[in-house]
Amino acid sequence: MDKKRALRILSDLIAIDSANDHESLVADYLTNLFKNYPVNIERVTYAPGRDNLVVTMGNHGPLLGFSGHEDVVSAGDLANWQFPPFEATIKDGKLYGRGASDMKSGLAAMVVAMLDLLDSGQELPGRIRLLASVGEETGEYGAAQLVKEGYAKDLVGLIVGEPSHFNIRVTHKGVIDYYVTSKGVCVHSSTPEKGQNAIMPLIAFAQKAQDLMASHTKKDPVLGSLTHVISQIQGGSQINSVPDHAWLSGNIRTTPVYPNEQIYQELEQIVAQLNEQGAQLEISYSFPEVPLPNQENTKLARLAKQVVNQEFNLPCEYTAGTGATDSSEYIQAGTFPIIILGPAAGTTDHQPNEYVAVDDYLLGCQLYQALAKRFWTEYQ
Ligand SMILES: [Zn+2]
Repeated sequence: MDKKRALRILSDLIAIDSANDHESLVADYLTNLFKNYPVNIERVTYAPGRDNLVVTMGNHGPLLGFSGHEDVVSAGDLANWQFPPFEATIKDGKLYGRGASDMKSGLAAMVVAMLDLLDSGQELPGRIRLLASVGEETGEYGAAQLVKEGYAKDLVGLIVGEPSHFNIRVTHKGVIDYYVTSKGVCVHSSTPEKGQNAIMPLIAFAQKAQDLMASHTKKDPVLGSLTHVISQIQGGSQINSVPDHAWLSGNIRTTPVYPNEQIYQELEQIVAQLNEQGAQLEISYSFPEVPLPNQENTKLARLAKQVVNQEFNLPCEYTAGTGATDSSEYIQAGTFPIIILGPAAGTTDHQPNEYVAVDDYLLGCQLYQALAKRFWTEYQ
């Protein structure tokens, strides 16, 4: 595909305001690009206006997954943008716009690679499935839905096109955001024996959770320690009333050393113990994500590094991330390897004046195509 059309596709995607919603517009646009090709297009609706898109090409051979999210984060204060966020602007070799880096450039490059392979007119020795997800930025629930509905189970390998600047992110931490609510009985503070103070058991919970998580000192060799922060606490409504409600939230960044399942059990055990002593605590979670175990020793990570090094003459390191990606969902779908490899540098993600270097994006289009071909050969 010529550069102009490849840039047009990225620019068109950026022009769609899919900030935490309206991903169906992205799915519509991509569907239109593929509609005259012999591919299988499936829409997987998460909510009205929010469609995941699955495009599968090829008839036989190993199935490589391409993962990209359709949503972007909000543009924030427009006054901080040099150019309009939902209108791609190219200046001095950089393409600016919301999602230019995270990650409409990765998504567009994957789509361009697929279109180029389809246009080659050759019989392809393998298959590609594009998994374009909703809601990655607000909880990876689109990818979770795709996994639940079986779209990832027959993958042989998966490339997530998040910004990595041609390095290969092979592992990242997981996240557990939790909330604990506490109920009590409100009475006049001069007769506290008639009521039940909601704040005190919550303090007990906070102390026990803090001590227990701090006792988890074993480190993952790359990701380091699990971290835990009690990040919010509120309760009561008046200085001379016994409080009948209180809540707190906590954020845990998990590693494979202490699997998420273990952490849930431990937190729930603290709640159960305190409830046995008369507390009325309840715990809930907001879109928890498991860590991505280290993929460095997989064939996929090795061959991707070779392609970047040898076919593109670029430096390429295995790296680790602190934030979760759709990988946290796809890793639960099977035993296939997952790597995170994208063209954008990622230095301006979630910021005003987000950009991707035009050359990096165009190189990404080539790279994904080369990777697919190499994958098909190695995994035959
Ligand atoms: Zn992203």
